[in-house]
Amino acid sequence: MVKLTFYGGINEIGGNKILLEDGERRLFLDFGFPYKRHKQFYEEYLKPRGGAGLLDPLAMGLLPPLEGLYRDDLMTPGLWHQFRKAEHYRKLDGVEGVLLSHAHLDHSGYISFLKADIPVYSTAVTAFISKAMQDSGKADFDQQVCYFTPTELKKPEGWQQEACLSGVSAKQRQFCISDVKPEALSPEAVQFWNWGFWEKRPKQKELVSCPMTGHGGCSFNLRCFPVDHSIPGACAWGIETSAGWIIYSGDLRRHGKRAEFTSRFIEQANQLNPRALILEGTNVQRPDNVFERDVYDNGVKAIKGASGLVIADFPPRDVDRLLTFLQIARDTGRKLAILPKDAYLLKTMRLLELDTPDIVRDDSIVIYQETVASKNPKVWIRNICQECGSKIVLAEDISSAQDQFILCFSFWDLNELPSIRPAPGSLYVFSSSEPHDEEQEIDFRRLHRWLDHFGLKAFGLPVEKNGDWEIPEAERGLHASGHACGPDLLEVARGIKPEVLIPVHSEHPDFYTEHLSGSGMDVVLPTVGGTIEV
Ligand SMILES: [Zn+2]
Repeated sequence: MVKLTFYGGINEIGGNKILLEDGERRLFLDFGFPYKRHKQFYEEYLKPRGGAGLLDPLAMGLLPPLEGLYRDDLMTPGLWHQFRKAEHYRKLDGVEGVLLSHAHLDHSGYISFLKADIPVYSTAVTAFISKAMQDSGKADFDQQVCYFTPTELKKPEGWQQEACLSGVSAKQRQFCISDVKPEALSPEAVQFWNWGFWEKRPKQKELVSCPMTGHGGCSFNLRCFPVDHSIPGACAWGIETSAGWIIYSGDLRRHGKRAEFTSRFIEQANQLNPRALILEGTNVQRPDNVFERDVYDNGVKAIKGASGLVIADFPPRDVDRLLTFLQIARDTGRKLAILPKDAYLLKTMRLLELDTPDIVRDDSIVIYQETVASKNPKVWIRNICQECGSKIVLAEDISSAQDQFILCFSFWDLNELPSIRPAPGSLYVFSSSEPHDEEQEIDFRRLHRWLDHFGLKAFGLPVEKNGDWEIPEAERGLHASGHACGPDLLEVARGIKPEVLIPVHSEHPDFYTEHLSGSGMDVVLPTVGGTIEV
């Protein structure tokens, strides 16, 4: 009997944490950051206390109460005493690993809490992007996917305090890569993984490095299927169990630049005659898709006639979209100005995919250095800016030649605008998704005010109409979602044809029940913390 228990991703988009148990053998499918639940309690200035370790995420229901699964150094005295009576509490030992589908934090973020000796199985690109994100991001204690510094939780005078154990180096998590033999990685790639791009990074402790390995340790027979999604390196997984093959889709689509990956996945997964398919359902209610190639056409149309600055706002880590805008920049006689973190990501991607543009050599790419931060930049920014010295542009460079650039900014970078002062005729091209919750709606209202204030013309930006947010009719087709639409998802299900279909990562899982009755597939809806036996 194989059991699947769902600790996240139920009636929500993201936060997937699925426990697969075959007798005494156990695996997790993703271990994601639960954005929806996190937002119910927290915001930027109200966060779980790093110094309280596991207490806050357990007490707030962000992490399942599974004793034995988490890092010992995050344990406060008497912690499990408080949770042994909690709903879904259990002791859980012997987890052989996490099969990570891709590097979006709603699938990977909470890996940071897991015991360091639980390995993560992923594609090489997913591992490298996860590291690049952590190297160049804020990476709070609850998002340290690739490495962390063990802490000592003390309780002096009634207060919990966080203290890095002095003299202890950052610990790296074991990643087992599924698609490249570790020995086939270039020396540069190995160095990046074990340490960083630059030999000496002052002020940063040395990593206790854990070399990547292949499939070695896992007792399950695994299959890793590359799929198309809005971040490179995404994959679906197949796990051979005593009940037959279980397939886990991760996030996927059929309308991006790597659509053929998803087609091949459907074909190959079908050949395994799977017992069960765990399938995402983010966009089940969408009747159709905007294709990535449409984004190029519509982008060129929008930008061609612009006389001032063009700002392009697209999702972070969507390398395919970045490359779409790079091509648009070339074809409209502009240069693409990217942020240092995007440059870092491209540099990382090039270690594995040689057709990724080389920032140093590509004439169409420059790096925008933030005005105020440039006085005291972080080490990685300083290093990347040194390496790409001639490529750095500052606000004044953009400001004095506005029709020469497409600037890759998002809402969070708008505070640079007072230094840039967009000229009349400047354009803000919105190539991302519409607001999904109240907080995002507030940000969208702010974004509109910023654009009004600086006289920027919005293009493709949703506008509020009677409480709904809609993109003006003539400005649609600038964003290809990372997720397949309803009809495509049904094709995935019918194409793979499992005996049991389990929807996750969806606010409308009953879509599958409605549309697949009589198909021969048994649709079973999971519940939070509930177990499905297959
Ligand atoms: Zn995703």
